[in-house]
Amino acid sequence: MLAAMPPTPPTTPEPGEARIRDRGDACPGALRLHLAEDGRLARLRLPAGRLTSRQVEALAAAAETLGDGRISITSRGNAELRGLADDCGAELAALLAEAGLLPSPTHERVRNIVASPTAGLDGLGHADVQLWARELDAALCAEPRAASLSGRFLFVLDDGRGDVAPLGGDVSLVAGEDGSVLLRLGPTAFRLTAADAVRAALAAALAFLDAAEAAGNGAWRPQELPDDHAPDWAGALTAAGITAEPVAEPGREPVRIPEPVRVHEPVSDPGREPVRVPEPVPAPPLPASPPPAPGVLRGGALYVLAPLGRLTAAQLRALLPADEIRLTPWRGVVVVGTGTRTAADRLARLESYGLITRPDAPGAGVTVCTGRPGCAKSLADVRADALAAPAGRLPVHFSGCARGCGHPYGDRIEVLATGDDTYLVDGAPTSRTSLSGAVAAARTPVDHTPHTR
Ligand code: SF4
Repeated sequence: MLAAMPPTPPTTPEPGEARIRDRGDACPGALRLHLAEDGRLARLRLPAGRLTSRQVEALAAAAETLGDGRISITSRGNAELRGLADDCGAELAALLAEAGLLPSPTHERVRNIVASPTAGLDGLGHADVQLWARELDAALCAEPRAASLSGRFLFVLDDGRGDVAPLGGDVSLVAGEDGSVLLRLGPTAFRLTAADAVRAALAAALAFLDAAEAAGNGAWRPQELPDDHAPDWAGALTAAGITAEPVAEPGREPVRIPEPVRVHEPVSDPGREPVRVPEPVPAPPLPASPPPAPGVLRGGALYVLAPLGRLTAAQLRALLPADEIRLTPWRGVVVVGTGTRTAADRLARLESYGLITRPDAPGAGVTVCTGRPGCAKSLADVRADALAAPAGRLPVHFSGCARGCGHPYGDRIEVLATGDDTYLVDGAPTSRTSLSGAVAAARTPVDHTPHTR
C-alpha cells in the first residue's frame, strides 16, 4: 500500500530547493475560470461543504445550463463545474451570487474551510465546528487582508473525533473534551478556549501573511517560508488579546515564546507585573477516526458517496428535500433532515439514482483524478478503468499521471497509469486487462460493519 504513491504537487520545498515562487497562485475559483481540455472549469469554495436547498438547486442549474451537467466534489469538499463555455463567467457569477454562494468576490478563493461533516448531528464530537466554519468564513470575508491568502491555504476544523484533523490544514482547530481547543500550526500548537477559536484561526492566517510578506518569496503556505521567517504565531495571538498556552505535541518541539511576548497577557498592558512564560504542557494524543461509512448515520442523517467523485445534476437534486447538505473531503454528501420519508426510504431512493449508499457497494472508496478528456496529461482513460474497480476495504485512487491530483488522504491503494494499457498498482506493473484482479488483490475484503455509526 502506498508503495507507488505518486508525488503530490509540490508545496514543500525539498532541501536545497529554491523557495521563491516565480508565479502567483493560479488556483481556479468561481470568478477565475481555468481552461481545461474539456472547457472552462470553476471551483466553488463551500466552507464546511455546506449547501442549502436553494444553493443545491442553483448549483444543479449551473451545471446543466452552463457546464457539462455534472458537479465534481474535491478532496477539500468543494465543488467544481466543468465544460463551461469561454463566455459564461458573468452568467455563472450572477447565478452563484443570487444563491448566496459568492459572499465576497474578493475573497472567493480563500474560503477553504474543511470541518467535521457530521459535527452537531451525531453527538460524537466536542463542539459544533460547522458553526465555527460559518463564523470563520464571515471573519475571513470581513478582513480585507485575508483576500491575499492563496487559494491553497487551508483551514481545518475538527470537532474532536479526528476525522479531518489529518487533512493537512495550515491552520487547524481541534476541539477538546474539556472545552478547550488545540490550535495546530504545522509543528507549533497552542491550547485556547473555544470562545477564542475562530479569532485565533484568523490571527494565525494573518501572521502567516506577515511572514510571507517579510520573506518576499511568494509562499502560498507556511511550510514554504524560509526557516528564518517563521510566523510569529504567539505574538499574533497575544496581539489579538487571545490567551493561549503553548503545547508540546508528542514528537514535536514546543513553540519557543520569545521575550518580551507573553502568552497570557496582551502586550499593550504596561501596568502589569511581568508574566511568567508558561512551560509547554503535553497535548493529548490527536484523535483519529475514519470517514463515515455510507448509510444512515447515528442521529438519523444520511451519508452517500458520489460515484468517482461526481454527481449529475439529477443526483444532486435527488438529495432534496433536506435542511442542508454537506459535501465531504471523501467525495460524499451528508444529507441533513430527511423530510417526511423514513431514512431507509430516502436511502433506497438515492441508491436508485446511482448514488453509493453502502460501504460494500461497487465504487465505494474509489476516487480518480480528472483524467481524460478533461486533462491532457492523462496517459489513460482512468475514469473508465476506475469504474471497474472491485469493492474492498481500503480506499483506492486512480491517477492518469504521476502528479496524483485529487488523491485522498491517508492509507490507500495507488493505481497509476503509465501508458494507454499499462498501470502500476502500488508500484507493481500490471496491464489494463489484469487491472481489476490486481486491485482486488491489493484491497482487502470489505469489513461488513453496520451502516449506522
Ligand atoms: S492526469 Fe490526473 S493526475 Fe495527471 S495532471 Fe491530469 S488530473 Fe492530475
